[in-house]
Amino acid sequence: MAFWIRINPQGCVEGSVYASYLDEDSTEGAHAEFVPDRPTRLYEAAHGWRHERVDRAEWQRRAANCLYGECDHRRAA
Ligand SMILES: [Zn+2]
Repeated sequence: MAFWIRINPQGCVEGSVYASYLDEDSTEGAHAEFVPDRPTRLYEAAHGWRHERVDRAEWQRRAANCLYGECDHRRAA
């Protein structure tokens, strides 16, 4: 099972999607799933937004706390 996760400039994971769900299993394909508007994607790519492909173990380690609102990023904000 693979996922793509969406990471904001603060390092907090804001979203995830199954890799198998995407039309295109790539960074750009994942970004397009979260942000349909291309100019917005270009802006984000230049301003620290990232999209990474992870397996379930890494998802659990890096994304779960963020997505459940229990991470240090949110406590700090
Ligand atoms: Zn977080």
